[in-house]
Amino acid sequence: MTDFDADAIVVGGGLTGIAAAIALAQSGLQTIHLAPEAPPDHRTSALMQPSVSYLTGAGLIGAPGQIGHPLTQIRIIDATPRLLRAPETLFDAAEAGLDAFGWNFANIRLTDSFQTAARALPNLTTRPTALASLTTNSEGSLLTLTDGTQLRAPLVVGADGKKSSVRATAGFAVHEHNFSQAALVCDLTLGRPLGGTSVEFHYPQGPFTLVPAGGNRANLVWIDDLAVLKQAQSLAPEAFIATLLEKSQRLFGAVALATPSFIFPLSTLTVDRAGADGIVLVGEAAHAFPPIGAQGLNLGLRDVADLSAALASIDRTQPGWAARLSTDYARRRAADLKRTGSMVDTLFRSLLQEMLPAQALRAGGLWALKLSPALRKQAFGLGMGQL
Ligand SMILES: Cc1cc2nc3c(=O)[nH]c(=O)nc-3n(C[C@H](O)[C@H](O)[C@H](O)COP(=O)(O)OP(=O)(O)OC[C@H]3O[C@@H](n4cnc5c(N)ncnc54)[C@H](O)[C@@H]3O)c2cc1C
Repeated sequence: MTDFDADAIVVGGGLTGIAAAIALAQSGLQTIHLAPEAPPDHRTSALMQPSVSYLTGAGLIGAPGQIGHPLTQIRIIDATPRLLRAPETLFDAAEAGLDAFGWNFANIRLTDSFQTAARALPNLTTRPTALASLTTNSEGSLLTLTDGTQLRAPLVVGADGKKSSVRATAGFAVHEHNFSQAALVCDLTLGRPLGGTSVEFHYPQGPFTLVPAGGNRANLVWIDDLAVLKQAQSLAPEAFIATLLEKSQRLFGAVALATPSFIFPLSTLTVDRAGADGIVLVGEAAHAFPPIGAQGLNLGLRDVADLSAALASIDRTQPGWAARLSTDYARRRAADLKRTGSMVDTLFRSLLQEMLPAQALRAGGLWALKLSPALRKQAFGLGMGQL
């Protein structure tokens, strides 16, 4: 299989897929990006400062303020009726010597900006066709598309999300757990704006978070049992708003719906290794978590950054470069994927935990963070993926 159509084929047109296709093309690879038309992505992404620096450095976005909103504070309110409640805690970016922890972006705006950057690269071709099947041998992979076209490349990047067919057909071992909780997202307008403060109300079934979206607008991310969210979504607008007012403890004055709401099921997904045999997995093809601590896309962008770093250290004139690259990529990603996965999992389960020892640990942890600047600094670093 030497008659290649490209050096690399990226499968999946989500944010991680576009970022990966751009990174490969910027590294000089002839790249084909398979990005079939998908429904608009109504999620928003809080991206930490290192991710924002990556995006601006790689030319994926301009100045973050053009399309995003700074996150300067995080306020956590324990809204559980538990015996051992955590103190209200405020984290301020200034304490970490930063202007902002990061920025909040609408995924639709990020997608537009990434696509504009992709169009400017002459060695990147985007095709609106999905992958149907894939076979791999020691030289490379043969991809059959849904329109019957066949494409060959030494390197394949699976960026095709949680249900990745690249991952499945290439035989990567995967561990998955579906939660009974889901996330409801929508935009609200608030009588009293959030400024730069993201406010998290912690309820027994999961957090109810309002993230600054500019002016008096907020992005709601409400995690709860799927049935509760579906029931809330089916209410008449006035009754839905009454529920939101109650959940937000009426702290923000009048609340109005600015967009329809959308529900996302929640799961965790991990792979034993993120690359082998000339195939690498990025984004939710390799890892998925509940949206706690805003880690998903941040982690996906670190995948892409490590893919670029691995490419920079490989001699592509030698046969078998793609297989060596995929092994090196898996090695580079292993520790970060493990650390971030277990951090989010522990955090999510601790929020839902009804057992008294777990509540004591969580409340104690937040007291410790509230009282100790050194611990807070460490937590900032961990949350921002810097440790
Ligand atoms: C409610 C919610 C809030 C979140 N908030 C944050 C946050 O604040 N910060 C953060 O960092 N992360 C956040 N995340 C996580 C973040 O949204 C995801 O990690 C990220 O968007 C995943 O991008 P992706 O490109 O890997 O996957 P997807 O966005 O799932 O993209 C996969 C793409 O692959 C395509 N595809 C599938 N099969 C094929 C095929 N056979 N051929 C070709 N293409 C195919 C699909 O059409 C899709 O376009 C949140 C997630 C949720 C659910």
